Amino acid sequence: MISLDEARATVLAGCVTLAARAVPLADARGCVLATAVVAPDDVPPFDNSAMDGFAVRAHDTRGASPDGPVVLRVVDTVAAGQAPSTAVEAGTAVRIMTGAPVPDGADAVVMVEATELVAGGVAGAERVAVHAEVAAGQHLRRAGDDVTAGSVVLEPPTVLGAAHLGVLASVGADTVDVIPRPVVGVLSTGDELVEAGRPLAPGQIRDSNRVALCAAIELAGAVPVDLGLVADDEALVTAAIEQGVQRCDLLITSGGVSMGDFDYVKVVLDRLGAMRWMQVAIRPAKPLAFGVVDGGDGRPVPVLGLPGNPVSSLVSFELFGRPALRRLAGWPGAAQVPAPVLATAGADLARRPDGKVHLVRVRTEAAPDGTLTVMPAAGQGSHQLAAMAGAQALAVLPDGSGVLAGSQVEVLVLPT
Ligand code: AMP
Ligand code: MG
Repeated sequence: MISLDEARATVLAGCVTLAARAVPLADARGCVLATAVVAPDDVPPFDNSAMDGFAVRAHDTRGASPDGPVVLRVVDTVAAGQAPSTAVEAGTAVRIMTGAPVPDGADAVVMVEATELVAGGVAGAERVAVHAEVAAGQHLRRAGDDVTAGSVVLEPPTVLGAAHLGVLASVGADTVDVIPRPVVGVLSTGDELVEAGRPLAPGQIRDSNRVALCAAIELAGAVPVDLGLVADDEALVTAAIEQGVQRCDLLITSGGVSMGDFDYVKVVLDRLGAMRWMQVAIRPAKPLAFGVVDGGDGRPVPVLGLPGNPVSSLVSFELFGRPALRRLAGWPGAAQVPAPVLATAGADLARRPDGKVHLVRVRTEAAPDGTLTVMPAAGQGSHQLAAMAGAQALAVLPDGSGVLAGSQVEVLVLPT
C-alpha cells in the first residue's frame, strides 16, 4: 500500500495544465486568468455625480444651513447617459442624477436631501434652496477613480469570480484569456450495470456512478461528458477508452480496477499507456489506477480508474479527481485540494487500526459560534450511497482507534 499523499502526487504528476485560450466573459467564471489585463481607458470614463442632487460651485454654498439656505437658479437637468449642455455659473445649479456627467463649472454636488425647491421664480425659472455647505469635490466620482487607463487590473493566476468578470466588462473586454474548463469523459464499466430508469434482470444493478461523477465534475468547475457504460470485455473497454480520450482532457472510469477476474480497466490502461495501479492506504477507495493515454493527436490525456463501489468512486473523486482538475485548470495549490478543516466530533468516531486512513462520512452541524460538529452517517459501507447522500463531509481518521466525542477531527467538506 502507498500513502494518500503519494497516490495524489502520482496523479498530479500526470496532469499538465491545459493551454490558455480566449473565452467569452460569460463562460469564464471560475477559470484561471492566463494573461494580465491592462485597462485601455479610465473607469469611470468621466467625472460624474455620486448622488441625485444639484451640481454647484462649492463656493456658492458657503455658510448654507437649514436656517440660512443659499438659493440658486436651476438652469438645466442632466440624467445618467446624457451629455450636459449647460455650464454651472456663479449663482446657478444643474439638477443632476447619479452617474450623470458633471457639467462644466461645477465642482461639487449637493444631495437632493439637503435641498428644497423654492416656489415663485421669475417667469417660471426654478430655484433651489441649499441647506448645507459642500466642499469642492464632494459627491463627485472622478474619471479613473476605479481603474486608471494603462494600469494592470488583473494578473494571472487570478481565479475569476463575479467581481473580476465585472471589472473585465468595465474595461471593455468581451473575451478573456483563461485556462479553459477541463472536459472530462465519464465511463462506467461492469456487466451488471444497466442505465438508470431501466428494469433490472436478475443480477443487475443500476449504474449510479456515472450520474454522480458527472455531477461531482460539474461541481468542481469542469465539463462532464457522459461516455456511457461498457461491459467487462477487454476489446470493448479498449475501444471506449481510446475513443473517450480523443474527446476529453481527462477520462474518469469507474469499476474494473480491483482484483476480480473481469477487472479489465487496469489491464487496458496498462497496455495503452504508462499506468500505475495503486493500493492506497485509505478506506474506502483503496484501489486506484492512473494512466496517461495518447489522445490520438499526441495530447497526453490522464485517465483515472476509480473503484466501482458507489461510495468509493465518489470519495476517490474527491481525493484524486478534484486535485487533478485543479491542476488541469491551472489553479494554484492543486496539491492542497481537498483542504481539511477542523471540526469537533459530536460522537465517538471509532475505528480499528489497519494501516489505513479512514474517510468516515459525517453529517455536519454548525454551532451558533461557527464551530463545526460532526456525527457519523448511518451506514459506512462502500456500497451505502444513500447514507453518504446524508453526509456533508468526510472525517479523516488517521490509523489508530479513532476519535472520542468532543475531540478535534479534520474533515473534508463535500462540495454542494
Ligand atoms: P468493481 O470495482 O468493478 O469491482 O465494482 C465494485 C462494486 O461496485 C460492485 O458491487 C459493482 O457492482 C459496483 N459498481 C461498479 N460500477 C458501478 C456503477 N457504475 N454504479 C453502481 N455500482 C457499481
Ligand atoms: Mg466490475
